[in-house]
Parts: sequence; structure tokens; C-alpha cells
Amino acid sequence: MSRMSSPIEQVRERLSSACRVTVLTGAGISADSGIPTFRGPDGLWKNFRAEDLATPEAFTRDPALVWEWYNWRRELLATKEPNPAHRALVSIEGKMETRRAQFHLLTQNVDGLHGLAGSRNLIELHGNIWEVRCTGCGAVTEDRRVPIPIPPYCSSCGKMLRPHIVWFGEMLDSDDVSRALESLEHCDMMLVIGTSGVVQPAASFASTARSAGAFVVEINPDASSGAAHVALRGRAAEIVPLLV
Ligand code: NAD
Ligand code: ZN
Repeated sequence: MSRMSSPIEQVRERLSSACRVTVLTGAGISADSGIPTFRGPDGLWKNFRAEDLATPEAFTRDPALVWEWYNWRRELLATKEPNPAHRALVSIEGKMETRRAQFHLLTQNVDGLHGLAGSRNLIELHGNIWEVRCTGCGAVTEDRRVPIPIPPYCSSCGKMLRPHIVWFGEMLDSDDVSRALESLEHCDMMLVIGTSGVVQPAASFASTARSAGAFVVEINPDASSGAAHVALRGRAAEIVPLLV
């Protein structure tokens, strides 16, 4: 590695020889697909904050209101496509597979764009907006209706359906968390893309990887997690393709 190489070249070089890479993405990676982050200026709906709608309490109080908000978000997401950052992660996964290295992608996003782009070793920590779960029998099914009838009911038991999403104040799926932690404790390199590091437990993931010896790279136009060795400042759709 030459002393004169740029931070991006250094990261690319490390990535090309890493044996176990874990990537964590947040709303920022989908911002370049035209999907607003919650905390960005376009994240509001009818003056409600996401934190007041994406909760079990809000759903108990007024399920129709919560479903209306999800219909708004579904409508917004239905037309959106993966951007060059999502696709670059698919290429990185493919290259790593070819040289028998391990790749794990952890996302906080619920938009399904990583899956649509073709990522395979993917953990959707907060669920997926295109899946619904029955509040009665617990069955999880894909449901891409836009708009979904309000409120939607389970076709097998007749109870109300809810979005299959981990809401504020709810626990993450414990299998997902163990698989995520396993990948963080054993990776030699971690990329943190487009997440502000305020939503737990994902916020602590970078520190977990760093403590376990990983080289941590952050890609974000703003400063965020303090745990990174290198920060590449810029939009995900511009920076991530440069790492392939
Ligand atoms: P967040 O806390 O992950 O913050 C967004 C981050 O993205 C910020 O640090 C911002 O600086 C960065 N960012 C903005 N534009 C970027 C770009 N072009 N490239 C790279 N980084 C960029 O996300 P949030 O919006 O506060 O949402 C919190 C939670 O809500 C998420 O963890 C997720 O579960 C959910 N959410 C999901 C989606 C989605 O699925 N697309 C969208 C909004 C919110
Ligand atoms: Zn049911």
C-alpha cells in the first residue's frame, strides 16, 4: 500500500483482501433512491413523527392511523429502486464469495431494496415493510398491496394484521441478533453505511466489531459513530461503488 494512496484506495485494498466483512446499513443508503430518512426534512407525515406512529402503543390506540401511515410509506416505496450503493454491495458479496471469503449484510432498513438488488446473506434487523404479521395466529406473509385495506385482516384466523416491522420499544428477533453479533465478533472489516448510530442495538455494532479487532469504515456525509478508523464523507451512491 503506497503512502500516497487516498483513503478510498486504502479501504478498497483492505476490502479486497479481507476474509470476513460485515456491513451495516441505515436509512442513508436508501436516501439516494429517493427515500427520506426519518430524521431528514422529508420524514414527516401530517405533522406526525415516526417515533409517535411506529410503536405498539400507537397501534393499540389507533390501528387505522398507523396503517394509513404505512400506506403512505408503501406508496412512497413502491416506485423506488436500488441505487448504485445497493448494487455495489451485491458485487462485493459476489467477489468475496468467489474467493471463499465471508460477507454479511445487516440492515436497519425496511424498504426491501437490498433484497431487490440481489443481496443474499442479508439480515433485515427491523423487518420488511412488504411483510405483514397476524396479531392473532402470528403468521407472517408477504403482502405488496398498495394501498392495503384498512385495517387488514388475516385470511386464516380473521384477526387484524400488523406490519412485520420492529417498532420503537420492541425487541429485535433474537436469532437475527445472535447471527448479527456472531458476524461482528468475527469480522476483520466492517463498513457502516448511512446510519446515524442513534438507534440501538445497531448503534453499538461498530464498537462491538472494533473491540473484536475489526477495521471499521464509516460512509456518511455527516459525522456519526465515533467507532470508525476511517470516515469516508460523501453520499453512499457515490462512495460505495468506488470500493468495488
Ligand atoms: P438513521 O438514524 O439511520 O440516519 C440516517 C443517516 O443517513 C444519517 O446519519 C445521515 O447523515 C445519513 N445519510 C443521509 N443521506 C445519506 C446518503 N446519501 N448517503 C449516506 N448516508 C446518508 O435513520 P433514520 O432516518 O433516523 O431512521 C431510523 C430507523 O428508521 C432506521 O433504523 C430504520 O429502521 C427506519 N427507517 C427506514 C427507512 C428505509 O427502510 N429506507 C427509512 C427511514 C427510516
Ligand atoms: Zn391469523
